[in-house]
This record gives sequence, structure tokens and C-alpha cells, in this order.
Amino acid sequence: MQLRKLEAYGFKSFADKLEIEFDKGITAIVGPNGSGKSNITDAIRWVLGEQNVRNLRGAKAEDIIFTGSSTRRALGLAEVSLTFDNSDGQLSVDFNEVVITRRLYRSGESEYYINKARCRLKDIYDLFADTGLGRDAISVISQNKIDQVLNSKPEERRLLFEETAGITKYRNRKKESLRKLEDTEQNLLRVMDIIHEIE
Ligand code: ATP
Repeated sequence: MQLRKLEAYGFKSFADKLEIEFDKGITAIVGPNGSGKSNITDAIRWVLGEQNVRNLRGAKAEDIIFTGSSTRRALGLAEVSLTFDNSDGQLSVDFNEVVITRRLYRSGESEYYINKARCRLKDIYDLFADTGLGRDAISVISQNKIDQVLNSKPEERRLLFEETAGITKYRNRKKESLRKLEDTEQNLLRVMDIIHEIE
């Protein structure tokens, strides 16, 4: 799996459509202070499902939408897409190319897409779980995150190893199954109550 392209429109400082193609090897992004280098990594984390806007250096969700400048009006939505080469099949969908898109309107409405088909945020989390790009992965490390990882508690650091080792997916499935079991037990209790009432 390789990240091929980033497209962004209305995300933070990107009032015009931004398109960056990533070739094989290392890509370095350089520019003066405040020119939007970190906004690019913020865009990548956002489309991969980052829900905590503070991790994107904002205070509220709409802070990621272009707020306007002296010459440009504010925009009503932000949209980011990432295109992955999936010819190695690492992402479990039957496509050689996978495009994921996230859109946020100023009204607060969010939309997610996988290859232009509307999906839930959970589908994006599931798709990237254990690929190293999941929401708890450390594939995007900001300067302060390095300190955070070094100073984290052993249990927190263990989550990073679990993501890297590829067991996050199973942990999530176990959590979901336990929740369903609990629901079923509650339903059974209610059925037993009703049976007792009838008898
Ligand atoms: P440095 O080298 O100092 O770390 P940088 O190149 O990483 O800088 P960023 O932090 O990515 O720059 O970009 C900051 C710029 O993005 C600021 O000029 C800020 O005003 C602008 N910006 C952030 N959010 C928005 C928004 N919602 N609308 C318009 N501009 C925004």
C-alpha cells in the first residue's frame, strides 16, 4: 500500500484546491513558517478519522474550514481525499486503488466516502486498522508527539505496539462482541421477567 495523492479543498489555509502527488521514496515538503506544511499532515490525519480537533491544533470542529483572508471569503466546507495504491491488497477491499474522502460542512454535517461510496467513519477505521495508518497509529508523528510517546505509561505504549503488531482489529472486534453479549444477556433477563409474570 502506498500513499499516491493528497487532494484538499477548503481545509485550513488551502482555499484553492491543493493536489500533491507522492512518488516512491521520500517526499520532503519545505516552505517558510506559517506556509501550511503542518496543515498537510493535519489533513492526512483528519481524513483518516482524527476526531479530536485539538490534535489538529484547533479548538472546535469548524476551525479546520478555511476562515477567509483579507482577499478571500470564508468557505462553507472542507474536503480532503487520499488516494492509495492497493495493488498489494493490504487494504481489504477489491480495488487496486482506494480513495478515501472526508467532508465537513460549516453546519457541522460530516460525510465519509470510500471510492466515492458514502460510508461511516467506522468503515474508515476498520479499513485502516492494523495497517499502521489507523487512528491510534504513529505513522504521523508531530514534534510534541515524540515526547508524548517517550513519556507515556507502559499501558499506553503497549497500544502502539499492538497497532504495529496488527492486533488492534481483533481487540476492537472482541470489544464489540462483548458489548453484543452484554445486550443479549440483558434481553434474556427481560424475557425471563416476562415469562415469570405470565406464569
Ligand atoms: P511552521 O514552519 O511555523 O511550523 P507551517 O508551514 O507548518 O509553519 P502551518 O502551521 O501548517 O504552517 O500553517 C499555519 C497557517 O495556517 C497559519 O497562517 C494559519 O493562519 C493558517 N490557518 C490555520 N487554520 C486556518 C483556517 N481555518 N483558515 C485559514 N487559515 C488557516
